[in-house]
Amino acid sequence: MEWNLYAQLMEEYDSSLTYDGIDGERLASRLHAISKIGLTPDGGSQRPGFSKEEKQAKALVKQWMSEAGLTITEDGAGNVFGRLEGKQPGLPAVLSGSHVDSVPNGGHFDGPLGVLSSLEVVEAWNERGYQPERSYEVVIFSDEEGARFNNGLTGSRAMTGEVDREIQEGLVDQNDVSFGEALKEVGLSSEGFFNAKRNLDEVSHFVEVHIEQGRILEQKNLPAGIVSGIAGPSWLEITFEGTAGHAGNTPMTERRDPLVAAGEFVSNIHYLPKEVSRTAVATVGKLNVQPNGANVIAGKVHLIVDIRDIYEDTRDQLVELVTQQADRIADKYGVTMEGKQILKVAPVPIAPKYTDLLQHTFNNLGMDSHLLPSGAGHDALIVGHQIPVSMLFVRSKDGISHTPEEWSSLNDCVQTVHVLKRYIETHINQ
Ligand SMILES: [Zn+2]
Repeated sequence: MEWNLYAQLMEEYDSSLTYDGIDGERLASRLHAISKIGLTPDGGSQRPGFSKEEKQAKALVKQWMSEAGLTITEDGAGNVFGRLEGKQPGLPAVLSGSHVDSVPNGGHFDGPLGVLSSLEVVEAWNERGYQPERSYEVVIFSDEEGARFNNGLTGSRAMTGEVDREIQEGLVDQNDVSFGEALKEVGLSSEGFFNAKRNLDEVSHFVEVHIEQGRILEQKNLPAGIVSGIAGPSWLEITFEGTAGHAGNTPMTERRDPLVAAGEFVSNIHYLPKEVSRTAVATVGKLNVQPNGANVIAGKVHLIVDIRDIYEDTRDQLVELVTQQADRIADKYGVTMEGKQILKVAPVPIAPKYTDLLQHTFNNLGMDSHLLPSGAGHDALIVGHQIPVSMLFVRSKDGISHTPEEWSSLNDCVQTVHVLKRYIETHINQ
């Protein structure tokens, strides 16, 4: 069967949602057009950051931007800005958008939906002859997913200056291609990349629409929700070291088995997050056992604990609790423990001022509002370190994302665009 995201989206569309200049059919056809770039045999999307597919998707959006009368600029990181001049162009602008890159064999909504929602607001304004007070820019951030270099949010970090040059230049992909080489492949340069920092006095607010990638909205039976904060990840690399030995010849009393310690540690930290807050989480998803033999007592176990919360103090409190737990368990089993923080990104709680205004917007449109945290990082997390941000989530079917099965109904998407447009016109544009 031929790939047709458009037909699938339109099948269940309630066309009464096309009003006020916002057109569900246009949104569907654009999601479809992007879905064909990097389409995999499984019906997924394959547009890694700084690939020719990502560049092609950007080019397509740029074409729509220019048809909508936007002035397009591109910075040294390949971030694209389509600007609609406001009545008061001297005022800091409102930015809205997301990304068009994907994880390998990912879905068709994570990223493109945010960019196209922001663009749909312009289309609606054009249709109604509306000019905002502040200038408005639709933005496409480069390489949000970071699939190629295990290091994402690249475009938003470049724009806000949150880049460690040494780390960034040291990155290589699995084919040993350096980050600098990858930039060159798509016509960018290291020099341009490291000079992409924008004067953020020019920007008053950033608002991002994104799929939820979780099940909360589905459970609440709501098309969209308001993000209360974006969790910042903290990664703790923990190594338990004991004594490797033969599984048959070493009596139980004489063992220093780091895998027993790691096992108890993993199951214990499952219960720690709720001690610090209702939104905190901790996960061990990666564990490396050495030498990893069926009849060998392990000598060393490396693991990474991913710890997140939308509040920095409780997130850091949890890091502390997890470290104490690792120490205690290492003692109990006579093994050594070494802990090292390898990643630490500050979370962004979204100011109640903005979540309140979003709640009003939902209610004015006759929609129920619900606040929920974002456990995943987004460009709004990085931008939010420096300027006020807000974020809207669209319901995800079965909470699935980063796979070809990722799905949000066109009804849910279009309702969210109505919220976005109304929110900007009424509250953010002032
Ligand atoms: Zn995304």
